[in-house]
Amino acid sequence: MDPRRDLPSIEQVVAAMKDDDLPRTLLVQCARQAVDDARDQVGPRDQPIEFNDLVEVADANAQSIAAALLRPLINATGVLIHTNLGRAPLGAETFSAVRAVATGYSNLEYEVADGSRGSRHAHAGQLLARACGAEAGIVVNNNAAAVLLVLGALARGREVVVSRGELVEIGGGFRVPEIMEESGCQLVEVGTTNKTRLADYSTKISESTALVLKVHSSNYRMIGFTEATSVEELATLGPTVVVDAGSGLLDSTTPWLEHRPSWLADEPGVRQAINAGAGVVTFSGDKLLGGPQSGVIVGSTSLITQIASHPLARAMRADKITLALLQQVALTYLAGEARALPLWRMATISVEELRVRAEKIATQVDGAKVIDTEAVGGGGSLPGLTIPSIGVALEGTGKESERRAAHLRAESVVARVGDDGVICDLRTVDPSDDEHLAQTLTRASTR
Ligand SMILES: *Cc1c(COP(=O)(O)O)cnc(C)c1O
Repeated sequence: MDPRRDLPSIEQVVAAMKDDDLPRTLLVQCARQAVDDARDQVGPRDQPIEFNDLVEVADANAQSIAAALLRPLINATGVLIHTNLGRAPLGAETFSAVRAVATGYSNLEYEVADGSRGSRHAHAGQLLARACGAEAGIVVNNNAAAVLLVLGALARGREVVVSRGELVEIGGGFRVPEIMEESGCQLVEVGTTNKTRLADYSTKISESTALVLKVHSSNYRMIGFTEATSVEELATLGPTVVVDAGSGLLDSTTPWLEHRPSWLADEPGVRQAINAGAGVVTFSGDKLLGGPQSGVIVGSTSLITQIASHPLARAMRADKITLALLQQVALTYLAGEARALPLWRMATISVEELRVRAEKIATQVDGAKVIDTEAVGGGGSLPGLTIPSIGVALEGTGKESERRAAHLRAESVVARVGDDGVICDLRTVDPSDDEHLAQTLTRASTR
């Protein structure tokens, strides 16, 4: 008999599926997909289709939907700003401050005093400007959008002068020359890959020059025979200087920390770029600022007004949740308390403290060892720089390590696989997750 005539009903398959906490509609779609695929795959003279096989396929379909759901993970990679894991964690305090705005109505674009229309740039943008010593600021969806908007608003159809050493690609397709083209500007390259002097810029400045752009190298570091021109020198050239600061260290002297960490090396600050005469500075909200995904544009009032009124600004505007989160982050910096932001707390926690936690975990896990590790900034920040850190390692062969790392992932822990084992770097793990980490490592160690 033709097995296709004997297929179970969708309902029968759904009733036999594992309960996945997924809406019934999705389970029905998964069951239908399984039955439809089975019908397509068999011919009239094939063996009958096993009911249990159908249910298994339907369950696998549901499983792949469940696996794709956005959910929390434990970052044991030691990469602080891990773009694939959502960059900077925000912390409960920042979140509780925005709950009321996010769940209800707010003065997002409303002047409470006279009931007139207000500006969404009056809150977070303005505060972030104050936090770095700029006159004005606005917020868009990310720094890539910020750069595109600034170039489009200030330089469309005109020339933008950039050092050849700064024509970079910053992860996920942000390439300076392409952004330049998209924004309708003419790229004028000056200098060489490793050396660009002030004189290289000045020979290319003309009536058609709209901007001089300086791009933070972010994800790579040039060493050896190099020379770059400072913002201060660029500001003497005449045209507006735009700095894409990328990682968004608000102040290179880190006044919110007791000591400036040595691993920050020569990471430039937004405040310093403004002080040195940059007309506009753009940076990411979710890198070293430690906030939500966003792009911040700060600078002089006249330039920021011009940028904010460009049509692209409307298309890139940040939403109220982002603005409420960023406002709280800005207030935290202004209060001098930014070391309490999860990013800075994780970045500056002492190696001794990490070691105590690691030893406690290692005593609970058979075969686990406490090892010295190197954490990194990540996400296009602090290229080539490492932060001394501590990890818990399960030594083993490459195969064992891959198997254990897969087990850890299945329990929401993302670890690093090194030359001699699986390593969980504690710098990026919240202490409240240590217990879960220990239990997960115990189960993984027997794999
Ligand atoms: C990270 C980075 C970008 C892109 O920022 P997003 O917020 O990820 O869009 C652009 N420029 C520089 C220099 C960066 O470091």
